[in-house]
Amino acid sequence: HAKAAGRNNYQFFTQKMNLAAAHFELESSLRSALALQQFELHFQPIINMGTRKLHSLEVLLRWRRPATGLVMPDQFIPIIEDNGLIVPIGEWVIRRACEQSMEWRRQGLRPVPLAVNLSPRQFMHKGLVPSIRRILDETGIEPSLLEFEITETALMQHGDQTLEILDQINAMGIRLSIDDFGTGYSSLAYLKRFPVKKIKIDRAFVKDLEHSAEDRAIVSAIVALSDSLQLSVVAEGVETEGHYYLLQRQGCQFAQGYLFSKPVPAETAVHLLEQVPVT
Ligand code: C2E
Ligand code: CA
Ligand code: CA
Ligand code: CA
Repeated sequence: HAKAAGRNNYQFFTQKMNLAAAHFELESSLRSALALQQFELHFQPIINMGTRKLHSLEVLLRWRRPATGLVMPDQFIPIIEDNGLIVPIGEWVIRRACEQSMEWRRQGLRPVPLAVNLSPRQFMHKGLVPSIRRILDETGIEPSLLEFEITETALMQHGDQTLEILDQINAMGIRLSIDDFGTGYSSLAYLKRFPVKKIKIDRAFVKDLEHSAEDRAIVSAIVALSDSLQLSVVAEGVETEGHYYLLQRQGCQFAQGYLFSKPVPAETAVHLLEQVPVT
């Protein structure tokens, strides 16, 4: 009996050791990933629901890890958010997105806004605003072609500083949206104080829209309130024509989801841009 328990403890211990070792390995690979140019950007269309045409692209980070393949952000963003690597990596994302936009422009494609995610840690980092300024200067991108998505949780965490940072970003001409709306603890009235132009309704409220009267009520309330605060609304996770129909009927302006496209690499995103008429 005692022996068996000892063996179980031992197994438990080695399991934990293996997990810790795997985590350590992941973390040290992440430390060199930026220098080894293993990160890449993918792009997912955001559609104007009125015209069903491309409005903008969300920029989503991918890690091409040798021997593993393409690693999705939920596998590594929490780790780099935790150890601070998100600051240099996040800065690289902004720069790379701006460079990509300029490349498309040089190819004669009509540039659409690119929406870049900012993590809470990045958002509170002192160097953020100066580094954005530097990137705008060095790439020459039109600031109106850049948007930042920030979660409401990140906004609520940093008190007075938040408004100051948002005002500075807004003053540069970059638009701000609230990401994953409804999953945090903010209220729309509170958001009115921030220079935010857009909110993104989290997929959690969209996925059961066809079957849940409750979710329909929540979405229609968010749309109605955003209307009165003159905010635009993007619905995330639009996967079916049913979602599209219900969201459009409720007055939602923009949609993003697998119904149109999964996030795709730059070479594929070009074809989405080619469909946008040059104005
Ligand atoms: P997010 O900002 O909410 O991004 C939307 C996520 O939903 C993306 O996952 C996208 O692929 C997925 N998605 C879009 N449409 C659909 C759909 O119709 N159905 C389903 N099931 N999923 C859909 P992804 O690319 O895996 O990114 C996950 C999260 O990682 C993002 O959530 C964002 O929080 C974070 N992330 C990604 N790139 C970056 C980045 O460059 N910086 C930071 N700080 N976070 C990032
Ligand atoms: Ca986002
Ligand atoms: Ca989101
Ligand atoms: Ca989300």
